[in-house]
Amino acid sequence: MKKVIVLLTTKVATFNNYINGQWQESVNKKTFYSVNPANNEDIVGSFQASNEQDVQLAIEAAQRAFTCWSQTAPSKRASILNQAASILEQNAQALAEELTREEGKHVDDAKNEVLRSAQTLRYYAVEGQSFTGETFPNDDSNMKVSTEREPLGVVSVITPWNFPLSIPARKIAPALITGNTVVFKPSSDTPLMALRLVEALDKAGIPKGVINFVTGKASDVGDLLVTHPAVRAVTFTGSTAAGEDIHKKAGFTTRTQMELGGKNPLIVMDDADLNLAASLVVNGGFSLTGQACTGTSRVIVLSDVKDEFVQKLVEKTSALKIGHGFEPGVKIGPLANEKQLKNVLKYVEYGKQDGATLEYGGDHLTSDEYQKGYYVKPAIFTNVNPNSRIAKEEIFGPVVAVIEVDTYEEAIAIANDVEYGLSASIVTNNLRIANQFTKDIQAGTVKVNRTTTGNLMNAPFGGLKKSSTSTFRESGRVGLEFFTQLKTVYMGY
Ligand code: NAD
Repeated sequence: MKKVIVLLTTKVATFNNYINGQWQESVNKKTFYSVNPANNEDIVGSFQASNEQDVQLAIEAAQRAFTCWSQTAPSKRASILNQAASILEQNAQALAEELTREEGKHVDDAKNEVLRSAQTLRYYAVEGQSFTGETFPNDDSNMKVSTEREPLGVVSVITPWNFPLSIPARKIAPALITGNTVVFKPSSDTPLMALRLVEALDKAGIPKGVINFVTGKASDVGDLLVTHPAVRAVTFTGSTAAGEDIHKKAGFTTRTQMELGGKNPLIVMDDADLNLAASLVVNGGFSLTGQACTGTSRVIVLSDVKDEFVQKLVEKTSALKIGHGFEPGVKIGPLANEKQLKNVLKYVEYGKQDGATLEYGGDHLTSDEYQKGYYVKPAIFTNVNPNSRIAKEEIFGPVVAVIEVDTYEEAIAIANDVEYGLSASIVTNNLRIANQFTKDIQAGTVKVNRTTTGNLMNAPFGGLKKSSTSTFRESGRVGLEFFTQLKTVYMGY
């Protein structure tokens, strides 16, 4: 959670949990603040610091609501999602401004996120209505064999702060349309945005208990959300450490879907359009202030073109305007919280200590306009040892490590030599290399001549190795699979 530095002189709004269709205080009546990362004197709101009793109530409400919701007509479930989407769309500008105030990203990016979240609700409202089983040919002419897809029951949804609306939307929409009920715990850095999504569903007429919302620290509420016997599935996005913890704690009959960290490489081949390559690294590495799970954090460049590429990269990076998310033209906002700031500065120090060359940036910005926020200048390191910490560990901030290699084979070996496998890209015009790359690279999302960031709502998303559990993908039609179980029916007649 964020540290509040200056005491408030203005009244702060208090927001409640949402359990069994009622907005209510936590049982212990404790609260915490959500703070604007661009101005730590600006308190966005006060939220419930819940404990396990609140989670228990939320899970029980979800359990009670399950039978009725799972039998509710899919068209009715879809119309609630569509109605909630309309509410998000009608309030897109106001919500975008709140999102910027709470998380820090530029208001244009925030508005795109609000609209994308609405589209996600609409997408699953349609896809979910035609998501069904299969029938199987068999030798008995008096028997039909088919699979039925059924909802699981109560699903826990646990989400991070970097896409505070769109990540919850891509989990909650497929859970609800397939007939599950939900207990949703958002990041304590962005509870307001999460609440706005629940509020939209409430206003859209979702029956009581179908979605429940509990805010609070992972250490107070996390375990029960994962281990309660009524919870049939946990869908989680966040750090690999937390994901591993949840995966280990979840019971034998609880499904887990974990979308975790990344250390995403972009390879620049010697035939690459270097202007394009530099722009892709700037967009993939520094947009959202480097706080995207698919952000470019390693650039592996062929030595023949390294100097020219680095020159272009520094040139483009130094042109990026750093500032408040409401200012036009700003490309880099604050980091989301003080912990993020300290982490990024720590990794800049590791880079220097490990002998890499800091070509650009890495400074903590503290002059007038930045002093109340968590601002850093994006950092570019060259001469990075592929075994050093900045080359191996997720930083989740605007730090790019440039590693020089002599061959494509060497580039692939380094690209794959990390514990993550979320997203990867190559910049080349060589069709053979581009195709070879799609086979060689260990990543769940593979791109050619595109940024490592960004994924379609209607295509599967997920990682390999420690970037995801190797169970179910998110997004697209396959995103519905996690939330349903199969029954095989042999119908003789
Ligand atoms: P985090 O792991 O600290 O927290 C994520 C959520 O999990 C929060 O709601 C937190 O309260 C909760 N949580 C933490 N530990 C828990 C535990 N042991 N049990 C139950 N709940 C727990 O992550 P963060 O700082 O919010 O987000 C940044 C991380 O998220 C980065 O590692 C990033 O790569 C990852 N991320 C991944 C994706 C993806 O799709 N792969 C997308 C966005 C972010």
